[in-house]
Amino acid sequence: MRRTIFTDEHDMFRAAFRTFVEKEIEPNVEQWEHDGIVPRELFAKAGASGFLGTDVPEQYGGGGVEDFRYNLIIAEEVQRVGAGGAGLGITLHNDVCLPYFLSLCTDEQKERWLPGIVAGDLITAVAMTEPGIGSDLASMSTSAIRDGDTYTVNGSKTFITNGINADLIITAVKTDPSQRHKGVSLVILERGMDGFERGRNLDKVGLHSQDTAELFFNDVQVPAANLLGQEGNGFLHLVHNLPQERLSIAVAAVAAAEAALGWTLDYVKDRTAFGQPVGSFQNSRFRLAEMRTEIDIAQVFVDRCVEALNDGELTAEEAAEAKWWCTELQKRTVDTCVQLHGGYGYMIEYPIARAYIDARITTIYGGTTEIMKEIVGRSLGV
Ligand SMILES: Cc1cc2nc3c(=O)[nH]c(=O)nc-3n(C[C@H](O)[C@H](O)[C@H](O)COP(=O)(O)OP(=O)(O)OC[C@H]3O[C@@H](n4cnc5c(N)ncnc54)[C@H](O)[C@@H]3O)c2cc1C
Repeated sequence: MRRTIFTDEHDMFRAAFRTFVEKEIEPNVEQWEHDGIVPRELFAKAGASGFLGTDVPEQYGGGGVEDFRYNLIIAEEVQRVGAGGAGLGITLHNDVCLPYFLSLCTDEQKERWLPGIVAGDLITAVAMTEPGIGSDLASMSTSAIRDGDTYTVNGSKTFITNGINADLIITAVKTDPSQRHKGVSLVILERGMDGFERGRNLDKVGLHSQDTAELFFNDVQVPAANLLGQEGNGFLHLVHNLPQERLSIAVAAVAAAEAALGWTLDYVKDRTAFGQPVGSFQNSRFRLAEMRTEIDIAQVFVDRCVEALNDGELTAEEAAEAKWWCTELQKRTVDTCVQLHGGYGYMIEYPIARAYIDARITTIYGGTTEIMKEIVGRSLGV
């Protein structure tokens, strides 16, 4: 179905980013999957080419255009070539972390951090999850106790995307451990602070070129100048920013499903069994038709959500709907596509196999399907 949300400028941006992906990402994916991480230079190259911080004001080196369609194009293009794991660090940096800096930094903090973030010299991460809590964020126990102009931070975080590469970590802490939501604040932990240690790069089922790590804080002295937003309002800041994170995941999910369907169509037209292409069996045609239909419907919905986000109208419930439905669609789609590939679909040299293992996390991170349904369900007054 023809998409109606793009202008010529978006098409030009897509062409430029596609060239970047073909040159800087695609040839290296195998190596990075093996390494378990992308090199920091990838961020610097993306920054130098104008693919980081398109929405950051020009005075800090950014593109100066608040338009999530540019973020969407980046997510779609990395998924198109099966490099979602390698591209996740960049989309997290742009779509998930930057909004916190843009909406919450003081002028002094903007001067200090935004130019490096846009250049790709300062890589970002957001650390909410702890070994003991994920969905129930208000129960976090990492503490930041203020004494004068310094917070003493103690605790640990886990499953943190960009956890090894990151220089600036938006860290959710309890500045008042006696409180639940009202005790949460956000502070920026920086690479090199005494007492801030990184654990191992976690060994995951998929997303192998993405570094996901544990972080440990032992009496880290964090200047009060690194408080992001207002003390005690951290939970509200998270709630404000999570819809964009969830839409980012939904956008990538639809693009991943589209790519999976494309590889599968190529395969089933070529592969024969019982003297005919496997795609021409009625069961195959029905499954392909079902996937085509569902992806088209999902695409229209996420495109509309992107327009709503750009207009400042996307609700937490709509973002939750997009997140759970599109990621469940991604999971169903890659599973069906592996089936249609037969045994070759289980071989990692085929893109559908990596798409299958990479898809599994999407209904969990950024808020699980169950938590998304809670958000939607609560809004129905039940
Ligand atoms: C690869 C990867 C990358 C990640 N990146 C980041 C990151 O960058 N930053 C970050 O902070 N976190 C990150 N996470 C953590 C992720 O967001 C959490 O794993 C997720 O929110 C779920 O939390 P949990 O793992 O503690 O599961 P739990 O909260 O323990 O949930 C376990 C199960 O119980 C269900 N459940 C929990 N509460 C309810 C409820 N009220 N009703 C019904 N069911 C419920 C859940 O849906 C789930 O099925 C990442 C995780 C992974 C694996």
